[in-house]
Amino acid sequence: MKKPEQENLKIIPLGGLGEVGRNMTLFEWQEQILIIDMGFRMPEEDTPGIDYIIPNSSYLAGKEKNVLGIVFTHGHYDHIGAIPYLIGKIWRPNLPIFASPLTRGIILKRQQDFPNLPELEIEEVKDGSIIKLGSFRIELFRQNHNIPDNLGLFIETPVGNILHTSDFKFDSHPVNDLPTDFKKLQSFGKRKVLLLMSDSTGAEETGHSLSEKNIMENLEEIFKTAKGRIIAATFASLINRIQQIITLSEKYDRKVCVEGYSMKTNVEISRKLKYIRTKKGTIIQSRRASDYPDSKMTILCTGAQGEGSAVLMRIANKEHRSFKLKKGDSVILSSSVIPGNERTVQSLKDDILRQGVKVFHYKMMDIHAGGHAQQEELKEIIKITEPRFFLPIHGQYSMLVQHAEIAEEQGLPERNIIVAENGKIINVSPRKIFISKKIVPSGYVMVDGLGVGDVGEIVLRDRHMLAKDGMFVIVTVINRQTGKVQGSPDIISRGFVYLRESKELLRETRKKVISIVDKTAGSNGAANWTYVKDEIRNKIGQFLYTKTQRRPIILPVVIEV
Ligand SMILES: [Zn+2]
Repeated sequence: MKKPEQENLKIIPLGGLGEVGRNMTLFEWQEQILIIDMGFRMPEEDTPGIDYIIPNSSYLAGKEKNVLGIVFTHGHYDHIGAIPYLIGKIWRPNLPIFASPLTRGIILKRQQDFPNLPELEIEEVKDGSIIKLGSFRIELFRQNHNIPDNLGLFIETPVGNILHTSDFKFDSHPVNDLPTDFKKLQSFGKRKVLLLMSDSTGAEETGHSLSEKNIMENLEEIFKTAKGRIIAATFASLINRIQQIITLSEKYDRKVCVEGYSMKTNVEISRKLKYIRTKKGTIIQSRRASDYPDSKMTILCTGAQGEGSAVLMRIANKEHRSFKLKKGDSVILSSSVIPGNERTVQSLKDDILRQGVKVFHYKMMDIHAGGHAQQEELKEIIKITEPRFFLPIHGQYSMLVQHAEIAEEQGLPERNIIVAENGKIINVSPRKIFISKKIVPSGYVMVDGLGVGDVGEIVLRDRHMLAKDGMFVIVTVINRQTGKVQGSPDIISRGFVYLRESKELLRETRKKVISIVDKTAGSNGAANWTYVKDEIRNKIGQFLYTKTQRRPIILPVVIEV
């Protein structure tokens, strides 16, 4: 007899598999759903005007009451960033939410930017905390990463134990943190791990990730030789790097200005919770910077990715109110760039160099560099925990595949390893792991300004066309009684052709518009204006394409008089 499907635990990744970012995973057992993380990812080149991409939560619609609670692993935006956009969809009073103190601080501070949302109550958890939610018992354990207070999860479920690594690396010399607790990991192995879900971000990198101590030594080389100011641009959530820059500044007798809203906010939260330690007087206000010689100043700021509104860009463009670049400055930038931002970062770098400033492209200033286990560590965690099944998580598809190969090399049979992508349902039972034929919605949900999900494929397609071929607006005044065009149609064009040099094209276009209206409008107000507009759009579109080989967006505006 076929066993009912409910015998399996279902793991449903809504984001983070097949991509870096937007991590969110559901664990479903019968009518119970446990959620791990709610992250966003940054947009790419082919999503113009989009601020963030968030997980698709449609699967949860109608199942809100089944949600047992949410556990957040750490304070990076690819794990917490989508909260303001998704929490409203499943929120109820007393919905259990758990996070470590730093993660909680970052989440709550960000919620203040969204005053319309319900106030979240987040229970603080730490290394060793145990959470009981329905049929799940979750034991949290600290994991090293490039942000402090990061927690892995050992989840006891009705089918067996699941170890979720969170983002992690093994570090014997971390910053403001304890070294990796191998004994704890071994003890999980002894308690039997049915399934290991492990971070794949570093799976394509050979060897061992750098210890935070080594990263500090590399950074110090820059501090040793810099004669003028040091301007360090990094990610606001790269708390360890921020701490290191502050510590090195103190060592080399420099004061630190913290610039940029998110940077200021994260430094403030982290100092308050003692995850960033500073000596008294190290951090100064920017207006006091001129009291100190350049050789005694560090500016810590956002903008490593060339973001238009971030501090580094404004400094480089001479638009910043307190700082301008000068000869002798040293700028430290993140070297790996989000795909799609390469050209922006390249021209930012050139602009900085033109002003006589040194640029250090430093890989470890990147959010994903240095924070994730590489091949040797990935092998080691498999060895220590001896899982029966293996599911690579967090990473591009190639990283997941590489990670699966690593697991196979460690002796796991191929059938016990699952490479899954977002929207797949992974069924786990004590004896079997497999992917259902059914999938759940996992398509992009895009956040554009404050709107969530209201930008769909059509809006994006329009933005592509606008960017590529521009826009062509035809304003036609039509007499309702006669159905004839009154005067000459007005044409406004942006990004398509230079109007003054295209008089002939415009004259022909106007003529064509008039004849289209004549044929379609009819008299006595009986016209179907939508049809008239469609005809103008289609026919003029074809006409312009035959003349110019371009397809601008055509906006026919019809005014009846
Ligand atoms: Zn992370």
